[in-house]
Amino acid sequence: AQHVPDKKVDSVCPYCGVGCQLTYNVKDNKILYVEGRDGPANHGRLCVKGRYGFDYAHHPHRLTKPLIRRAGVPKTGDFVMDPDRVMDVFREATWEEALELAGGKLKAIRDTHGRKALAGFGSAKGSNEEAYLFQKLVRTGFGTNNVDHCTRLCHASSVVALLEGIGSGAVSNPVMDVTKADVVIIIGANPTVNHPVAATWMKNAARAGTKLVILDPRRSELARFAHRYLQFKPDTDVALLNAMMHVIVSEGLVDQAFIANRTSGYEELRKNVEGYSPEAMAPICGIDADTIREVARLYATSKASMILWGMGVSQHVHGTDNARCLIALALMTGQIGREGTGLHPLRGQNNVQGASDAGLIPMMYPDYQHVSSPEARARFEQAWKLAPGTLDEKPGLTVVEVMDAIHHGDIRGMYVMGENPAMSDPDANHARDALAALDHLVVQDIFLTETAYLADVILPASAFAEKTGTFTNTDRLVQLGRQALNPPGDARQDLWIIQEIAKRLDLRWDYGHVSEVFDEMRRTMPSIAGITWERMERDDAVTYPCPNEGDPGQSVVFVDDFPRPTGRARFVPADVIPAAERPDTEYPLVLITGRQLEHWHTGSMTRRAAVLDALEPDPVALVHPLDLDAMGGRPGDLVTIESRRGKVSLYARADESSPRGAVFVPFCYYEAAINRLTNAALDPFAKIPEFKYCAIRVTLG
Ligand code: SF4
Repeated sequence: AQHVPDKKVDSVCPYCGVGCQLTYNVKDNKILYVEGRDGPANHGRLCVKGRYGFDYAHHPHRLTKPLIRRAGVPKTGDFVMDPDRVMDVFREATWEEALELAGGKLKAIRDTHGRKALAGFGSAKGSNEEAYLFQKLVRTGFGTNNVDHCTRLCHASSVVALLEGIGSGAVSNPVMDVTKADVVIIIGANPTVNHPVAATWMKNAARAGTKLVILDPRRSELARFAHRYLQFKPDTDVALLNAMMHVIVSEGLVDQAFIANRTSGYEELRKNVEGYSPEAMAPICGIDADTIREVARLYATSKASMILWGMGVSQHVHGTDNARCLIALALMTGQIGREGTGLHPLRGQNNVQGASDAGLIPMMYPDYQHVSSPEARARFEQAWKLAPGTLDEKPGLTVVEVMDAIHHGDIRGMYVMGENPAMSDPDANHARDALAALDHLVVQDIFLTETAYLADVILPASAFAEKTGTFTNTDRLVQLGRQALNPPGDARQDLWIIQEIAKRLDLRWDYGHVSEVFDEMRRTMPSIAGITWERMERDDAVTYPCPNEGDPGQSVVFVDDFPRPTGRARFVPADVIPAAERPDTEYPLVLITGRQLEHWHTGSMTRRAAVLDALEPDPVALVHPLDLDAMGGRPGDLVTIESRRGKVSLYARADESSPRGAVFVPFCYYEAAINRLTNAALDPFAKIPEFKYCAIRVTLG
């Protein structure tokens, strides 16, 4: 009976924002297999990551003891995976010694160099409670708002545009609403790879008659189900979207009543799109004027049209402008506030929505209460039992800004929980040099990540299945993840570790069960005030906003008004801005980075999951076959890709989905860390870097 589980534990998938519910089948503290549950987002389905990506928790590379860097060992960015050599760099320590050093030195930096000399990165891999407690630690223990996480690299631009335009950074309608829509635009997203179970609902909708319109420079598998697929040129989103709006305005397809009753700023938007006729934009975006007109009419005139988007929209220096255009499209046609309509930025990580909601961002307290608001500060000072005037009124630094501040000597100490900026940050050599230059780096993780390799102290944490907490999916659905395993060796729960660090910074916290943190969150976050812990345990999933205990949760929002001071949504016009770095004779191709189906973000988990690693073991670059021919190469050849910032070598894969002149590379391979090449140029509004466009050259060998 060695393969018969001795317990079954209901939880959620640790990977993407779809938030599939699953059951862990466990025997002797080992997961044997995983099954899909009938959750609201997945109805029993799981993709390959959810089904097979669990055994990383049992991998021999798991950190099981606190580690302290050996004296005199230099910090270099050249990561060594060999666990045998780890002990040349680090030595084992007791928890007491590691915590005293980790927390004590953070405190010493604060007291000597001031509170702004510290920063913290939390993680969208962690629970809502971990995110909440981590940002509370940075704000009240470090005394700064220098706290951020991977949302900065993901949908920060979408959130800025949504907060500005409609007053809420979350989605207006759940993914499943694609089955209620007549027309669905999917732009800059590859759901089959990145949100696989959500993609199945999109395909079902297409089979049932919903017209899918795919707008993307890369042809995704979903394009096979599309009514229209528009392969526009990379970096020309605003040209295409403004041209669509030009058609809607000039042909009188706007919803006049909706504009008059529920919006402001339309006149400015209307004037702006006058200059963007489809004929003028066709050569820029590479889509003929008639097709632009057809798609614009289709979206504007259907009974219910919905827009979903991904990183292809957000990760540009004009990411906020791209999202502003999508919002304006929905507003001018009244395609929002009803079932089957609205705006849905597909969230990447399983808790990137929840971590942002919980305040793990430098400019907002939990529930998007701005740190510069005296009322918000007073509310949190009271809730956190602080003297008036304690909290910093200045927004903190964002992810990429923190790296620059380290190079300038302004930040000297960091606490990183579950993030891997040495792999995920743009211009990763610059980021690694920054991490190495810190006086003190504390990393809390389950593996010796590329970031942990640069740490002074490493705190061994708990894997997803080893803790209980809530996680918020892309649909604003708060779900309960339950502990199925005990952490290995001396690894500890993240909530415990955060509290131990807090103690060393003179904070007197005494949270016992995770529900005590959740209860405090409810008291400070009106959006989840009606979700009790008992309700989570009973129902497993509740959608917010849920302001009172009797409220069933609201899956479609903005039905009557928008959560802005005027109650009206706001049009914000956008103009075409080119990418920060264009191809030239020296670097003639474009690099686009992203994910692949089998691997997750920086690969620390999925590359240690046996099935997933077997499916995609080696770093690959996806090159159009004609470009590969032109360079005299064949599929499987080793190629070197170079930008002005670095170079990597990996295997070429012929891929017709990539447009000619563009190369796509996943960012999960430490041995070919593609973010060494990407550009750290930032969108000025959201400070999101331009992962989706920089100039490269490719050579054989
Ligand atoms: Fe997990 Fe996303 Fe796959 Fe669902 S679709 S099983 S949440 S990775």
